[in-house]
Amino acid sequence: MGHGGTMLIDTHTHLHFDAFDADRPQVVRRAQEAGVIAWIDPAVDLDGARRALTWAHRYPDAYFVAVGVHPNSAHTAWHGEATLRALRTLANDPAVVAIGEIGLDYYREATPPPLQRQALQAQLDLAAELGLPVILHQRESIADLLAILADWVADLRAHGHPLAEAPGVLHSFSAGPSEALRGVELGFFIGLTGPLTFKNGHRMRAVARAVPLNHLLVETDAPFMAPHPYRGRRNEPAYVRWIAQRLAQERGLPFETVAAQTTANAQRLFRLPLRPTEPPTSPQADPGSPSEEDDHEPRHLGP
Ligand SMILES: [Zn+2]
Repeated sequence: MGHGGTMLIDTHTHLHFDAFDADRPQVVRRAQEAGVIAWIDPAVDLDGARRALTWAHRYPDAYFVAVGVHPNSAHTAWHGEATLRALRTLANDPAVVAIGEIGLDYYREATPPPLQRQALQAQLDLAAELGLPVILHQRESIADLLAILADWVADLRAHGHPLAEAPGVLHSFSAGPSEALRGVELGFFIGLTGPLTFKNGHRMRAVARAVPLNHLLVETDAPFMAPHPYRGRRNEPAYVRWIAQRLAQERGLPFETVAAQTTANAQRLFRLPLRPTEPPTSPQADPGSPSEEDDHEPRHLGP
């Protein structure tokens, strides 16, 4: 196995995207060899959600899905009640563990912000109705997003809704430590991605040091944002090890501690129906060098 028995969960990996059509089984195998016991594939629209579920059914104890309409897809994919009905039906699938990827993107503004906010609010209400946590995208939108989430969480708390304990994740967090801590006050987890490892990733590293370890998740956001030393290439779930390793370094903690805690965090948030895991059988403990079996050669990235 070569991963020293540590177990990781990549809580954000778009494995249904066509970037993986040429070699998805190999990508899954590399993830499992790297100790990634489970991953969550967030859809960005209804068609993607259906594709993700098809793949999830092939790996029933490892591959989980979030269903939702992404802010950058909403201009074509959001149709109000009809979309909500479809999401509600899709969410019946046992592989669905969250509503996402939803949120606000004021950087691209592919979708007019008022429509983004409408789709976000409706899907937050759907998540509360279904009792599913949310996976939130934010880009240059943190103030508006936190204001909307504060109202949503206040309402959950007022109703004693169990989701108030762990309402979701602010994925690939791109704002600063004070905004991250505000999210944590509201109960949210903070998702760390490739920028944690980038030379210019100071802001995400500051967030990684500021947020309590029991509120951090590690993600790849594959196929995007591959961590160093794969920056610029296609990302994949196996590389979540590089995120966890850098987090351990930033926190001055053993890799195993960070792996165990972030995996426990993912379980607490998403309540993944994992099979009981066998005790680690790998004799060699190798926490510090997640890459020793990687060849560092550019992988074939498809056409
Ligand atoms: Zn994403």
